[in-house]
Amino acid sequence: MLKTSDRLPEQASFRTVVDSGDYYIGRLSKGQTLRILDLEGNQAADTLFYNADNPAERYSMTDTLSAQGQIYLTTGSRLMSNEQRVMLEIVADTCGRHDTLGGACATESNTVRYDLEKRCMHACRDSWMLAIGEHPEYGLTKRDIGHNINFFMNVPVTSDGGLSFADGISAPGKYVEMTACMDLIVLLSNCPQLNNPCNGYNPTPVELLVWNN
Ligand SMILES: [Zn+2]
Repeated sequence: MLKTSDRLPEQASFRTVVDSGDYYIGRLSKGQTLRILDLEGNQAADTLFYNADNPAERYSMTDTLSAQGQIYLTTGSRLMSNEQRVMLEIVADTCGRHDTLGGACATESNTVRYDLEKRCMHACRDSWMLAIGEHPEYGLTKRDIGHNINFFMNVPVTSDGGLSFADGISAPGKYVEMTACMDLIVLLSNCPQLNNPCNGYNPTPVELLVWNN
């Protein structure tokens, strides 16, 4: 469901631009609101969330989908943990829907889906691993990398139950906004994928903005 936000960028307590192929890792406190802004359009932001006090509690695609009874995420979606608690709620969305079925790109999936020579291409799982390797203070390890949300990514489910990676429905300036319901760690890879249209074959930056209420 499309819904715009009244929050003003100049009142944000934190802003940062994440280049394509780069990552962001940071804390988001309970009650804070995070906006992910698709600056140039057609970008995918592969994102994981963890309970900051206990990272073994993490975003769960299966619990989120079964709780809401639908397969896409948008305004009103409550992002659930593997302990069936609400981690965040999407409070505004000008894109319309977001994927949580397709998973993140990896060197392995690039090889299987596209070509053996794609194996060395940069992938979201590498960015996540670099993030947790460069920031051991968050206490995350490889085993904490699970299923994720692909904000702005268009992955329609076909009538026979398959997934297709389709051209994006986002555009420059579209955003999604979510309020934290617990203290969180946010781990985001701004997707470098060049083999499918999730980035329009042209990965571009996203901006993150945080408001304290
Ligand atoms: Zn990716």
